Amino acid sequence: MRHEIKIEQVSNSKLPNVDIENAPFGRTFTDHMLMASFDGEAWTDVKIVPYGPLMLSPATTSLHYGQEIFEGMKAYRWANGEVKLFRPEKNMQRMNKSAVRMAMPQIDEDIFLDGIRKFVSLDQAWVPEREGSSLYLRPFMIATDEYVGVKASDTYLFMVIACPVVSYYDAPFKVKVEQYYSRATNGGTGEAKCGGNYAASLYPANLGNEAGYKQLLWTDSKEHKYIEESGTMNVFFVIDGIVVTPELNGNVLEGVTRDSVITLLKDNNYTVEERKVSVDELVAAHSAGTLQEMFGAGTAATIAIISAIGYNGVDLELPSVDDRPVSKWVLNTISDIRMGRLPDKYNWMVSID
Ligand SMILES: *Cc1c(COP(=O)(O)O)cnc(C)c1O
Repeated sequence: MRHEIKIEQVSNSKLPNVDIENAPFGRTFTDHMLMASFDGEAWTDVKIVPYGPLMLSPATTSLHYGQEIFEGMKAYRWANGEVKLFRPEKNMQRMNKSAVRMAMPQIDEDIFLDGIRKFVSLDQAWVPEREGSSLYLRPFMIATDEYVGVKASDTYLFMVIACPVVSYYDAPFKVKVEQYYSRATNGGTGEAKCGGNYAASLYPANLGNEAGYKQLLWTDSKEHKYIEESGTMNVFFVIDGIVVTPELNGNVLEGVTRDSVITLLKDNNYTVEERKVSVDELVAAHSAGTLQEMFGAGTAATIAIISAIGYNGVDLELPSVDDRPVSKWVLNTISDIRMGRLPDKYNWMVSID
């Protein structure tokens, strides 16, 4: 079934008052937003309306029991002015996987894909053009029953908002191996992109920040022995010329960037291993001088260079940025595909009209 998308446009755009080429991450929003309601049986009332506050009952279930999921994706402006989305169907599939885990309804394909294309098309003047900048899209879904009782809601709201952004991290930074707290546990919600995972991560992340680390490097919840991922991104290591990344074990978020990086590397004759990566292995490689590179991969972070890994109160310092050929190749290649400078041989880029 195809849904009709109603459009109510703003009378005055905020754009003339905004410097979209220098917007701080996640604080400036475009003129419109996409909305759809789930009435207990089907998605209805699909519309693009002026960006603005929601009116919700204080008893709205998502406010109490955290039934919420989200996505993060980007639209890029090519040199010829065209605006392209990067792999939006992957985000839709993952959102629907998260929905199943959180007992929420799956979103219809045309609402997600056509809705986002129409929305971005309407707000396309907001897509910045500077290298490394883009329009960040935030689809999310909340439970909306007016009910203070523990059960899956019958009704839901799906929305997409957007903000012009530059890179999330502007310089290499240190991460700390988390040896006490956990982001995800076996059988938990680690693989779902849900707000609750982030809520639970904020306190340990603050402790890490106070100790000088921008992000944590989460480890398995049982022994804190194996690397899982970082706060907002999957992680890759280059050990003795081989690219290694933790395998998807149900606790690691299945990143679209992670998948793209692995595809690009493998197709260009790099050896990539998806497997368990222990902290001991990293420590041993570091002392043997074979821990050559480490980077994070995520939509917001893009390819983030990690300067050092904190473990047991010691920083394992990694080679300088200039000595990171694999990270640089990955960043340049994925940026060139996103910006239309390399042929799109995987059909990753989707036009908005
Ligand atoms: C979103 C996210 C990532 C990165 O996924 P992408 O699809 O590449 O943006 C990695 N880890 C966590 C915990 C995330 O929420």
